[in-house]
Amino acid sequence: MSTIPTTLDETNVDIERERERQATPASALLPQPRRRVLEMPEYHPPLANRSMLRLDFNENTFSPSPKVIERLQQTNAESLTIYPEREHVEKEVAAHFHLAPAQVLLTNGVDEAIHLLCAAFLEDGDEALISTPTFFMYDVSIGMMTPGLKRVQADASLAFPFERFLAGITPRTKLIMVASPNNPTGAVISRAHLLDLCAAAPQAVVFVDEAYFHFHGETTIGDVGRVRNLIVGRTFSKAYGLANLRIGMLAGDAQLLGYVRKVSSPYNVNGVALDVLPSALGDGVYLDWYIAQVHAGRERLMQALDEAGVRYWPSHANFVLFEIGPRHKELVSRMREKGVLLRDRSADPGCDGYVRMTIGIEDHVTRGIEALRETLKEMQWTRP
Ligand code: PMP
Repeated sequence: MSTIPTTLDETNVDIERERERQATPASALLPQPRRRVLEMPEYHPPLANRSMLRLDFNENTFSPSPKVIERLQQTNAESLTIYPEREHVEKEVAAHFHLAPAQVLLTNGVDEAIHLLCAAFLEDGDEALISTPTFFMYDVSIGMMTPGLKRVQADASLAFPFERFLAGITPRTKLIMVASPNNPTGAVISRAHLLDLCAAAPQAVVFVDEAYFHFHGETTIGDVGRVRNLIVGRTFSKAYGLANLRIGMLAGDAQLLGYVRKVSSPYNVNGVALDVLPSALGDGVYLDWYIAQVHAGRERLMQALDEAGVRYWPSHANFVLFEIGPRHKELVSRMREKGVLLRDRSADPGCDGYVRMTIGIEDHVTRGIEALRETLKEMQWTRP
């Protein structure tokens, strides 16, 4: 039986350390996360009070296909009690893209796909390469795994800095993440350049994020499998209008995707999204209609910006980035007062004073353009 110490002298307690422990707030005694988690950046998109015209998040501004809505109406109570089954839908999706089922992984939006790619391929000491400005989730998910993020900043044209990017590849580069079309610039990278990147970094996964593919048309999905280090991402949040259901996909070499599948939960995609996905993919008529709306709206917005003397970056996506200058906050808040949400991109590297407007269906573009014209007039805005 051990004896209970009666005085501190009889214990092994280091009195100084004990005093320190008692003086430390309880919260400091909580388990600490990995160092990378402490140091990674956080992403807080401005999500509150969005029940007005949403030209801020590059969503579909209208609705998914009526065939999706029909399918949704068949959802019954029991179906909600069942764990989702991803595999048979992956087979259908693979057939749609002329791929083998093992070359497709459905994910909880492309956001999760980015997260899973980083978890599967990156570790401390690895380098990952992105060009900036771009989608901020690359920063977040890469930062979660390694401090080795290298950013290649675009020049004032905001075009993809291909030569400098290529020069940024080193033997330690393990993951390359590029978006084509890019967000927030709307710029694209040609398929030839993307294949050059794959060839220049065979030791790295080259992730081509085609979230905005439908508004552009060029893809590398046909190169999947043949180019073994290429992984393509597609989302159903944009053209298909399913952002709230959180569904996206990766297409890539079966072995590489096997590693990603290993780090994913088998239930990562909800069953409602899985149920409606074939209906969404099957309704080419709706998709073509929505894409045509965006193409026409994009031309109209760029023309309106020309007329107003606002500098913009010609876009291949469902949004246009333009330069307002030092009064960017005022413009966004005056537009909000008129019921139109825009996204201030000033915090993005090289984007000080830039604002982005999403292109939706005809009527929404008209409302967006009208509100913008009125706001610029009220502000007596002049080009910076
Ligand atoms: N990639 C890019 C380039 C994006 O802009 C976005 C959405 N803003 C995403 C991925 C995320 O898409 P999802 O809704 O599928 O997570």
